[in-house]
Amino acid sequence: AAVIVAIDGPAGTGKSSTSKAVAAKLGLGYLDTGAQYRAITWWMLTNGIDVNDATAVADAAAKPQIVSGTDPAAPTIAVDGLDAAAPIRTQEVTAAVSAVSAVPEVRARITDLQRTIAAEAPNGIVVEGRDIGITVLPDADLKVFLTASAEARAARRSGELKGKEAADLAATREALIKRDAADSSRKTSPLAKADDAVEVDTTELTLEQVIECVVTLIEG
Ligand code: C5P
Repeated sequence: AAVIVAIDGPAGTGKSSTSKAVAAKLGLGYLDTGAQYRAITWWMLTNGIDVNDATAVADAAAKPQIVSGTDPAAPTIAVDGLDAAAPIRTQEVTAAVSAVSAVPEVRARITDLQRTIAAEAPNGIVVEGRDIGITVLPDADLKVFLTASAEARAARRSGELKGKEAADLAATREALIKRDAADSSRKTSPLAKADDAVEVDTTELTLEQVIECVVTLIEG
């Protein structure tokens, strides 16, 4: 039977690296739901929608076509047929994504996409995000909630960024904490651990150890 795994947690806990590696090891699909929220945010920005105008964002929520490729070795994200992998990682998108993803019409649209993708994955899928275990896939076979100290998360995220951005650890830390606070405090689908999720604190663990831990949880 297909295995559905939900991996949630804040930014910088190693969700993406862990989810991709676990999916590749077990022959499962991989879905980065943050990339989908970033993709719709990028579309809003490039189409002149004021991201702080919730009504305008809601009215436009159904317009972009968003397609996710779920091969963990080469995940893809396209918006209206355009490769969005690079533009969704800009600071402009990162700064706007919490506001866009707080809009209920956006969440409903993206949640629908996520459920369809999970249902169609032949062997099952690892879905990473913020609200997967609670809202998107409440019947997942395994739910994992990754945590880490703010320092560890800022250092990891900073290591992923290039050049000038990476140098500014303090600014990265501030932006990350601000985004977590925005994601955690919103009324629609806050970042939270499902009651039946297994919490893994990754602060003192290497990526390999976290991967091993999740694989063991899946294989039971
Ligand atoms: O995981 P990543 O940092 O790329 O996610 C970007 C943003 O997308 C998050 O800060 C959050 O606002 C939003 N998001 C969400 N629900 C998810 C995944 C991401 O609201 N399941």
